[in-house]
Amino acid sequence: MAEGIRIVALAGGVGAARFLRGLVKVCDPATITIIGNTGDDREFYGVHVSPDLDIVTYTLAGKVNASAGFGLEGDHFSIIDTLSQFGHDTWFRLGDLDFSTCLHRTLKLKEGASLTDVTRELGRYFEIGSLILPMSDGPCPTFIRLNDGRRMHFEEYLIRDGAPDNVSEIDLSAAKTQQPGPQIIPSILHADVIFICPSNPVVSIGPILALSGVREALHRTQASVVAVSPIVGGSPIKGPADRLLKAIGVEVSARGIANLYSDFCKGMIFDEQDVEQLDAIKKLGYQTSVLDTLMVDQAKSEAVALEAVRLAENLS
Ligand code: GDP
Repeated sequence: MAEGIRIVALAGGVGAARFLRGLVKVCDPATITIIGNTGDDREFYGVHVSPDLDIVTYTLAGKVNASAGFGLEGDHFSIIDTLSQFGHDTWFRLGDLDFSTCLHRTLKLKEGASLTDVTRELGRYFEIGSLILPMSDGPCPTFIRLNDGRRMHFEEYLIRDGAPDNVSEIDLSAAKTQQPGPQIIPSILHADVIFICPSNPVVSIGPILALSGVREALHRTQASVVAVSPIVGGSPIKGPADRLLKAIGVEVSARGIANLYSDFCKGMIFDEQDVEQLDAIKKLGYQTSVLDTLMVDQAKSEAVALEAVRLAENLS
């Protein structure tokens, strides 16, 4: 990509991290600003956990637990196991090193630092060449309501209850009332290229888009906006995107994702398994690239990122 180009990526957790580990190799990492979802954030065991920010940080640092896709490689679980023996409810597993990242975040927040400050500092500590920003400094918890009327934090729905399919509502009202972090709108407005990572469109990209002014900034920016579909062969690779898309009445397909982003996005990368949707996606006004988007290793991540960059260059 040409020198001086400013890239922004809207990111959730694992899918985004897989794309971004490729992007930082095919572009200068210093030109990339990553806007991470904090709708999944919650306090566990007295510490502020930011699952998506940490997945991206650990992955770009080359320290992620590769088989899980989150947490740190080689981490131990003494803290959580001991808490469990003390009788605490420990359905959210947090490794010891991971716990220390979250404890550091909590202590800094208590001292008065913003989540943006702490996230930048953690990025420096983990020697990340790109800027990782939380979408907001305010609390934006996503809540899920089930058909039986129960309402719970997204992590309770996903991890504690195993993401059941009887979802009646995804409640992003907290994000809707929060301001984006101080650099979010300026970085979108001044970007040359914006990537929508292959993340859960409802609970990872959705909260970022729900923040005051973000969607409007995406309408106003001159940037080329390219999304990578998180739906492959008509379903998500992992996670409850299918259940949550159905709950908001969106078709579980690459075309469904294209529809969801069509007011601000003009480029779409989707998987060759979904090639029959090419015409339908083009009809929505997209320029497209169809390829194998299963980023099972570093080389595959770089291939998808390179194609996304190529598509963005063609749009501009
Ligand atoms: P989280 O990790 O649970 O926070 O979830 P994400 O926001 O990252 O979203 C998970 C989505 O990423 C799912 O819909 C997956 O289908 C998608 N995803 C994960 N890995 C890949 C991949 O290699 N390629 C593509 N195209 N999508 C992926």
